[in-house]
Amino acid sequence: MPLGSPPGAAFESVMVLSITRLAADVEPRRPSGYPAGMRDLDDLFAGLAQSRFRRRFALGRREADYLAQRGLDAVLAHGAEFVADRLAPARPANDGRQTPWRNHPIFVAQHATGTCCRTCLARWHRIPAERALSAGEQAYVLAVIARWLRNQPEAATAPRQPDLFRD
Ligand SMILES: [Zn+2]
Repeated sequence: MPLGSPPGAAFESVMVLSITRLAADVEPRRPSGYPAGMRDLDDLFAGLAQSRFRRRFALGRREADYLAQRGLDAVLAHGAEFVADRLAPARPANDGRQTPWRNHPIFVAQHATGTCCRTCLARWHRIPAERALSAGEQAYVLAVIARWLRNQPEAATAPRQPDLFRD
């Protein structure tokens, strides 16, 4: 990792590497990126920016502070658990209401990116409901969330601080 890389860079490169491997298993000639059928992220974020509903989401002070204190890697590790537990099952519990509106940066990012429930995942990301998400699809969802968090002005400007609290 070159000097000056953002804290999330190492995590992302590991993630992208594993996504690329999965994509290669599924479709060997696909040059890079996500499993076959996943949306291009530039295309996705252009679409999200057109949505009056999605674009109004932003980190509140509390979520921004939490992200700054914990760092992106730790927050994304929570995100991986949320995605695995609340989104990945074929029939998630309380689907459509499983993602709170606030109190964790991941929740806000999920609403902002249409990764909050299986209905939104089907509509925005063309991932069908009623079946479990693959590992590659979960990594894709996390990459979407990571990109949104990295785009937040608070995340870009807040200095990385040592962990003040531990679980
Ligand atoms: Zn939703």
